Amino acid sequence: MLRRFRLEEPGSIPEASALLARHGETARIYAGGTELLLVMKEGLARYERLVNVKKIPGLDQIKLDNGSICIGALVTHRRLATDGLIMQHLPALVALEKNVANIRVREVGTIGGNLCFAEPHADPGTLLLALGASVIAAKGNDRREIPIEKFFVDAYESALADDELLAEIRIPRLPARSAGAYLKFGYLERPSVGVAVFLTLEGNAVREARIAVGCAGPTPRRVSAAEELLRGKSLDEASRRLDEAGAAAGRASDAISDLHGSKDYKEHIVGVLLKRAFTQAAEQCR
Ligand SMILES: Cc1cc2nc3c(=O)[nH]c(=O)nc-3n(C[C@H](O)[C@H](O)[C@H](O)COP(=O)(O)OP(=O)(O)OC[C@H]3O[C@@H](n4cnc5c(N)ncnc54)[C@H](O)[C@@H]3O)c2cc1C
Repeated sequence: MLRRFRLEEPGSIPEASALLARHGETARIYAGGTELLLVMKEGLARYERLVNVKKIPGLDQIKLDNGSICIGALVTHRRLATDGLIMQHLPALVALEKNVANIRVREVGTIGGNLCFAEPHADPGTLLLALGASVIAAKGNDRREIPIEKFFVDAYESALADDELLAEIRIPRLPARSAGAYLKFGYLERPSVGVAVFLTLEGNAVREARIAVGCAGPTPRRVSAAEELLRGKSLDEASRRLDEAGAAAGRASDAISDLHGSKDYKEHIVGVLLKRAFTQAAEQCR
């Protein structure tokens, strides 16, 4: 049962962060509410105040700025799956967003809520890691940029301070002959393993390879041991080393045994998905 709470409706970021600072642990930001209301209904968390940020202007924008694609924290999954600018610049994110949760969650659930909740079995953080994204945290009139690899601290824990809001996600525009791909596998409601690959080709060589694994462990993470096996190699050589890279990514994924599968099983799936995502990204670079 959902207990009574007070709904605050600030009109600006300074107002919202002041409310969070004043009420501390008893208040929480409310965006789409798909996670928050669930944990409150189940009695896993109790907040006296919800700070509805949906009336703050500008947090739902998608724009190009200074070489980056900027996505406001309040942009919903559904909008990311259908927005023209995202389709043009980040087709891998469109494909990912089409497969997040179900239509009801995609319609109201926001990218900001997804990242801030830091639930391990989530998709966008993994791709954002491979794409080299950062996030803008806001408090009062101050802004700080956090590289996405420093944002996920632990399961359900982000690098945001208690009175900070996530305002925006910034993704650098992809260089020429670059592409990303994200693939996931799961048989429960949420994904069991997700792998993202970002590649830049130069001639017939892999100039840049960034690989991230999510869902297997507490937080999504880059797997540099796998990247190093592929970076700087010809495409043929890199393709021959995919088994090795997949095994290295599995070992570096920090997989844990849980309801979604054993550690060994997840590590194996990481290898399978890495091969497929690499092939997909390489095709798209061409
Ligand atoms: C049935 C179901 C299936 C799902 N399947 C998937 C899936 O397959 N893949 C996947 O990736 N995700 C999945 N999800 C998670 C879903 O993507 C998230 O529920 C959604 O994106 C959360 O956004 P929200 O706006 O509803 O967040 P809310 O529920 O409003 O907030 C979540 C948390 O983030 C905080 N928060 C929200 N916005 C901000 C902000 N701007 N700044 C600071 N803190 C903030 C809130 O205080 C709260 O603690 C699933 C969820 C459900 C319920």
